[in-house]
Amino acid sequence: MTTNPVTHIPVLVIGAGPTGLATAALLRRHGVEVRLVDRAIGTSVQSKANLLWCRTLEVLDELGLATAAQEAGDPLVEGRYSAGAKRLATVRTNAVPGTRFQPTIVQQNTTERILAGALDVPVEWGTEALEFAVDGERPEVLLRRPDGGTERVRAEYLVACDGMRSRVRAAAGVEFEGEAIDEDFVLGDAEVSTDLERNTAYQFFGTDGFLIASQLPGGLWRLAGPVGKPVESPGPADLQHLVDKYAPGTITVTGAAWVDSFRISQRVSPGFQRGRVLLAGDAVHVHSPAAGQGLNSSIQDAHNLAWKLAFVVRGLAGPRLLETYGHERKEVAEAIRRVTRMQAKMWFMARTPLARLRRTAMLRLLDRTGAFERKLLPRLAQLTIDYASSPLTGGAAPRKDPLRPGLRLPDVEVTLADGDRAWTLALCADTRLTLLTAAPGALDALAARYSAAVVLRPVVAGGPLAPLATDVVAVRPDGHVGYRGPATDVAALERWLTGPLALTASIPTSIPAGAHDATDH
Ligand SMILES: Cc1cc2nc3c(=O)[nH]c(=O)nc-3n(C[C@H](O)[C@H](O)[C@H](O)COP(=O)(O)OP(=O)(O)OC[C@H]3O[C@@H](n4cnc5c(N)ncnc54)[C@H](O)[C@@H]3O)c2cc1C
Repeated sequence: MTTNPVTHIPVLVIGAGPTGLATAALLRRHGVEVRLVDRAIGTSVQSKANLLWCRTLEVLDELGLATAAQEAGDPLVEGRYSAGAKRLATVRTNAVPGTRFQPTIVQQNTTERILAGALDVPVEWGTEALEFAVDGERPEVLLRRPDGGTERVRAEYLVACDGMRSRVRAAAGVEFEGEAIDEDFVLGDAEVSTDLERNTAYQFFGTDGFLIASQLPGGLWRLAGPVGKPVESPGPADLQHLVDKYAPGTITVTGAAWVDSFRISQRVSPGFQRGRVLLAGDAVHVHSPAAGQGLNSSIQDAHNLAWKLAFVVRGLAGPRLLETYGHERKEVAEAIRRVTRMQAKMWFMARTPLARLRRTAMLRLLDRTGAFERKLLPRLAQLTIDYASSPLTGGAAPRKDPLRPGLRLPDVEVTLADGDRAWTLALCADTRLTLLTAAPGALDALAARYSAAVVLRPVVAGGPLAPLATDVVAVRPDGHVGYRGPATDVAALERWLTGPLALTASIPTSIPAGAHDATDH
């Protein structure tokens, strides 16, 4: 590392892809001072991930950006699975239960532009992180600025959102375990002439591969599929070849905005943290793009991490809280890897007649029983993420109870003690933990004592919130139930706040300028 003077900063985020942008935006919401650098000169040129699942839109809603994303996108109404001309299954995708937000087709670069446009700090484009010293007391990074000059930055915490070839990960000595599927794919955004319907994701299966096709906002079509051998300079003809092979006569490719080739990797790092370095997004997990989980789970990483990092940086909680980030998100990344690997094997790599029969039978069963809509979609939409095994999860509830600690809070309309109505997730979209209960009496003093980190919201119990007649739930700023217990047992709740959550005994009572509570939007 060179001997330039050192700039100090609470949080340095490296990489302004969707993960870095979301992390910075969420940290700013908590009033944390942050710098966000990226070696690229602007948001990505390629459209890449093109689907925002429900939970991601809920996070964007917290940032006041869901409407912008929905307006820039198109609703995904249906998924259709066919083999040749035979329709195997149709899945209705715009009625995912339990959420106000339905899957929306939006190009990744649009999502990035929306996130970048809403940041109240500049994205430092054209700024590359060259060298890292991560073993000292504070991580130090040498940045090369767009003018060629360099700057040494020492951060309280470094967040690595620098993508699948993360140099921070390498410098921190964190492994990236997994495998590449032994198959080359092409994908691109094509100009086409077709009678296929918009708002629909098509998957056409053949005997040795498949074609994925869906229209993007603006009119181009995303086409993707396996090509057997590596393609040197892929172009529109390769996309047409896929169409001719797996869905002949359905699409004529007339041009392409971009075409790329890639190999699917499925990797998850064994650790998401090394001391004061936290890793998120593609830097610690990559998945097959088939189920649209890459960008979406990366934004969920940011959501899980930002409030914890903010609590620690602001002195509200001890650094132990940060360890729960890796615990919780690695488990989710592993689960996604299992699902996408199974999907890749059973659906796309079905090369034998028996494997194809199995695939057809499974799709028909899912179609007939509606299990896709009821079971699989909420999972793909990332609404069923469960942090039950996290060291941060406290108290107890029956397994199937929707208010069980670890689960995302059910988003339902609730009546507040003053008669107003609100959606629970909007009510709890606070930079503090929200205590929800219909029996708040004993909790006033506790909430006042921890007022910088905790807010009490008395509600009327009913529906899925019926247990709140006697219980209190502590909803984390990322919308997950952290704790549940009897509203009268204040001592148990306080033990959870100061134990697993690591709230500091005497915490600052003020919220820094820039931190917002749920009433701000
Ligand atoms: C062609 C393509 C198609 C895809 N399609 C899909 C899809 O259909 N569905 C899906 O879910 N996912 C898809 N993905 C994956 C999805 O794009 C990623 O999961 C997502 O971009 C992860 O976001 P990220 O911010 O973690 O990483 P990235 O988007 O890779 O962002 C990392 C950022 O870090 C910056 N950076 C790297 N090193 C440095 C450094 N040393 N200094 C400064 N900056 C640095 C880079 O410039 C980049 O902007 C696709 C990916 C590709 C490449």
